[in-house]
Amino acid sequence: MSSAECPEPIQILDVDSEIYSGTLDCVHCGLCLTSCPTYRVTGRETSSPRGRVHLMRGVAEGEIELSQTVADELHLCLGCRACETKCPSGVRYGALLEQGRAIVAQSGLRKGLGFRVEGFALRHVLAHKGRLKWLVSLLGWVQRLRLDRLAAPFLPGGLSRAQRLLPAIPPSAERERLPAFTPAKSPRRGRVAFLEGCVMPELFGRINRASVRVLAANGFDVWVPGDQVCCGALHAHSGDLASARDLARQNKQAFGGEDTEGFDALITNSAGCGAALREVDHWLPEGSGSLEGKARDVAEFLDEVGFREPLRSLPARVCYDDPCHLVHAQGVASAPRRLLDLIPDLELVPHANADRCCGAAGTYNLLQAQMADAVLEQKLDDLEAAAPEWILTGNPGCLMQLQSGVASRGWEAEVAHPIELLDQALGPDESPVA
Ligand code: SF4
Ligand code: SF4
Repeated sequence: MSSAECPEPIQILDVDSEIYSGTLDCVHCGLCLTSCPTYRVTGRETSSPRGRVHLMRGVAEGEIELSQTVADELHLCLGCRACETKCPSGVRYGALLEQGRAIVAQSGLRKGLGFRVEGFALRHVLAHKGRLKWLVSLLGWVQRLRLDRLAAPFLPGGLSRAQRLLPAIPPSAERERLPAFTPAKSPRRGRVAFLEGCVMPELFGRINRASVRVLAANGFDVWVPGDQVCCGALHAHSGDLASARDLARQNKQAFGGEDTEGFDALITNSAGCGAALREVDHWLPEGSGSLEGKARDVAEFLDEVGFREPLRSLPARVCYDDPCHLVHAQGVASAPRRLLDLIPDLELVPHANADRCCGAAGTYNLLQAQMADAVLEQKLDDLEAAAPEWILTGNPGCLMQLQSGVASRGWEAEVAHPIELLDQALGPDESPVA
């Protein structure tokens, strides 16, 4: 039987589990507390990183019952991992949370229609490119016929939020998959593989195409294997580690199996996918082969290899907002800013708390509406003081969350991915950005 056919063992939270040993790294210093959005909003110890680690440890030791309260606190967490950045003891909070949520899912404590719909959508739609395309096409027709606006007053909470968050569905020509191969502009510097993502091609295909253009312009052949699938990050965050592993195994095969020499780097422009790819080793006990150590965010990679100039002038006032899964899970903060600084006349304006979560967090903003709104409002207050014409961020969930926040405040600001401005700055058009 191949490893892909092996059933995954049922996880148990006890003192022999990997998750328990992870909780022992916490020395209860509390340095993570003020970095935690849910602690800042609630002021509750159980809604803090230290509190959640304590809950997981207590359950493993049999001192605390695996109750609805424990399940709810693990799911109130945004998974932003700001606590990891602050932790002096190296607590791998993201890995603990994934495993803790998997145990909660197996215990049946994740209840409610929203969670069931999430599980169905992740397993049966997001993981299947054809079904996702069909659904997005349908939503496109709903938008074009303005049925969404007609139905808006009658939609229940979760669907109403989804309707507000969903950007305009691009026409089908803009939702075409990327070509399997895009040659480098000379002089050639190497070959990269590119992860398209699941929602990126359907909602933000323009960003994928901009990424490929910029990589090719910088001297890299771009290989986009057609049989790649969703990275599995959202599945893992929801507690469905089995689906995440299955998708990771499919991607390992799509990107060359055990051949680790086929490309220089595996590029993604989505922070959530990048974090998942970077940590895919701990999902695959048999080894991640072609994926191992290759994942790079597009900005990180271009900064590492050196961006080709000249770039044309783009006079604009810009804020860069760090996606949590780029700054906290991958430690990438300076690279996007350094690249943007290369663009003549672009004014990169700092705003307070740029590395704090925007409240998107995958499906969090649909399932934990109150907390997501509270976190978003803090983010918008910080951005308002900087008065940007453009807000840049590198993750599809953050793009949608910030776009909806900008619309809710009636701002004129555009929300975009940094690679889009770099792509524009490489182009011949001399028109201003805004
Ligand atoms: S991941 Fe974010 S929300 Fe969750 S405990 Fe850590 S800082 Fe708080
Ligand atoms: S900073 Fe780290 S060691 Fe300190 S309480 Fe938070 S998780 Fe525990």
